[in-house]
Amino acid sequence: MSLLVIGSVAFDAIETPFGKTDKIIGGAATYITLSSSYFAKQVNLVAVVGGDFPKNDIALLNEHGIDTEGLQIKEDQKSFFWSGKYHNDMNSRDTLVTELNVLGDFDPIIPASYQSSEYVMLGNLSPQVQKTVIERMEKRPKLIAMDTMNFWMDIAKDELDETIKMVDVLIINDEEARQLSGEYSLVKASKKIREMGPKYLIIKKGEHGALLFNQDRVYFCPALPLEEVFDPTGAGDTFAGGFIGYLAATDDISFDNMKRAVIYGSAMASFCVEKFGTERLIALDKKTIESRVQAFIDLSQVELQIT
Ligand code: AMP
Repeated sequence: MSLLVIGSVAFDAIETPFGKTDKIIGGAATYITLSSSYFAKQVNLVAVVGGDFPKNDIALLNEHGIDTEGLQIKEDQKSFFWSGKYHNDMNSRDTLVTELNVLGDFDPIIPASYQSSEYVMLGNLSPQVQKTVIERMEKRPKLIAMDTMNFWMDIAKDELDETIKMVDVLIINDEEARQLSGEYSLVKASKKIREMGPKYLIIKKGEHGALLFNQDRVYFCPALPLEEVFDPTGAGDTFAGGFIGYLAATDDISFDNMKRAVIYGSAMASFCVEKFGTERLIALDKKTIESRVQAFIDLSQVELQIT
């Protein structure tokens, strides 16, 4: 099944306790499409960049089988720029700069060949743009998943509420779930957020794994304890890409299959943090991914008989 992805395609400047980068390629949709390209047969990108965005990085996306017909290039404008600095524990970060640039007036155009996409991943960008994409799909896709962040909760809460109402799966982190719901308990937060629209909610907890909620069911997938974490940037998007890519590849949206998808998403995210930016993500193969998924299975599997 084919997958349509929207989100930022950007320049990032990152500072972690292990080092600092100048402008490197990043953006939510970059991480999502790269991650999902290892699973979904057809990945369709809708995004916008400025004339400053390197053409060889677009070619790199194409080499991963990502269709960039829906990637607009505004030659006389600058690409979205984000800069962040991680704290010592790497679980939290401060945003230093957000320059919307070309994203400021982005009008997402969906090529005709993308209209048959059954799966949609609305990566992080303005909720108004995310909503426009849903409205411009001629047929309701089988599954719409969405990510967002505190930045949009602060400046576009009404639009965000409108968009959240329209999606099936919301994927956010624990801090965002607390801000969105006004609840500290993640169980209470998950109830409130699902009352806002999405039947499924995934709450990512960084190095402490991820929770999947639906009705009265909850599933927990741990994160793999890694010896070295260099840069968590994009881990959330890479998770989302692995999750939705696996669902699109298997074309099964049952709760049990979503649990498997959460494991695939977590495995992909565990690669992402091992190097700066997209470096690790662009150089993976099926075998390496499968052995990492096996490591996740081994991590939490136990034979236990309650007597
Ligand atoms: P993550 O670490 O998964 O939260 O995602 C980091 C990526 O999100 C970076 O590559 C940024 O370019 C991108 N990003 C940060 N802020 C925003 C924003 N307000 N809108 C869209 N993308 C953003």
